[in-house]
Amino acid sequence: MIQHIVTYLVDVPTIRPHKLSVATMNTQTLVLVQLQCADGIVGWGEATTIGGLSYGEESPESIKTNIDTYIAPLLVGMDASQVARAMAKVRKVIQSNRFAKCAIETALLDAQARRLNVPLSELLGGRVRDTLPVAWTLASGDTQRDIAEAEKMLDLRRHRIFKLKIGLREVMDDVAHVLAIKRALGERASVRVDVNQAWSEMDAVRGIAALEAGGVDLIEQPVKASNRAALARLKQRFDVAIMADEALHGPDDALALAHGDCADVYAVKITQSGGLMPALEVATVARLAGIGLYGGTMLEGGIGTAATAHVCSTFAELAWGTELFGPLLLTQEVLREPLVYRDFMLQVPTGPGLGVEIDTDKLRSMQRQ
Ligand SMILES: [Mg+2]
Repeated sequence: MIQHIVTYLVDVPTIRPHKLSVATMNTQTLVLVQLQCADGIVGWGEATTIGGLSYGEESPESIKTNIDTYIAPLLVGMDASQVARAMAKVRKVIQSNRFAKCAIETALLDAQARRLNVPLSELLGGRVRDTLPVAWTLASGDTQRDIAEAEKMLDLRRHRIFKLKIGLREVMDDVAHVLAIKRALGERASVRVDVNQAWSEMDAVRGIAALEAGGVDLIEQPVKASNRAALARLKQRFDVAIMADEALHGPDDALALAHGDCADVYAVKITQSGGLMPALEVATVARLAGIGLYGGTMLEGGIGTAATAHVCSTFAELAWGTELFGPLLLTQEVLREPLVYRDFMLQVPTGPGLGVEIDTDKLRSMQRQ
């Protein structure tokens, strides 16, 4: 039986400013969910988002309030082992709030997998891989600093896929920045860009043509999420892969984007999808439509990152790897043992549930008062 659900806000400084077209982050606020069951099992979930309300329509504070006030009371007293039934109730009564639903579903699945003494991936159909390629985001905004950071990551054998956050500056200034980095790294690394919706379609035509010619491998969400037609036109026009990210809020969008032939690749995010099971549905639509997969992040800490890793470990094809580096951007951890990054790969945890242990004393000392 679900006894109670506790939510925490934890503000963690980042290792450096993280510049996106929508925000510059110096701190990440983790939203963590602890689900206590009557049999003594505890499940954990995470609903972290980016930049307050500048990225999406849920803020850390609204997620916490909505779970505490509306979602937790629906679930307390229900059978904790019936995850699908619990989530069906939440999805019936609560509109939208995808991040909050994701955290709750993660905690329920974590608890149930711990109860069954299996890794969470085994409740999702079973893993087909134990390691995931991990991209690093270069987002200092400074070309030389970004090149030095990339070289360091290659030397450490931690990352050889680099994503550049662009869209703040004039198109050709951004292009010059990206191509300088691509020239410095050459064939040693895959260089990709994320525009976070910042370009008009005309900007995108100019920018993508130059990036494609310069050897960039992937263009993420170049135009507004709502402008599916523009995304489709860019996909037809260019050979370089176009990825949908903000345009993808779960299985319905996945189907609509597939019908519109709007993207070559989907960024699968458990929070944006509204949970782990809906994220699997997004991946299934992609597979059936011949669309490539990429494991996306909302810069979550260890809990949300582990949850996404379990989901991605079940994908038969994961041609574009993942960007599950969130914990590496943060100066502090709530896990007893950090996730393992080695030889350019994240090791998918193998223990029961999420396969991570939470240091609750540390968490309580870090939580927002
Ligand atoms: Mg993105």
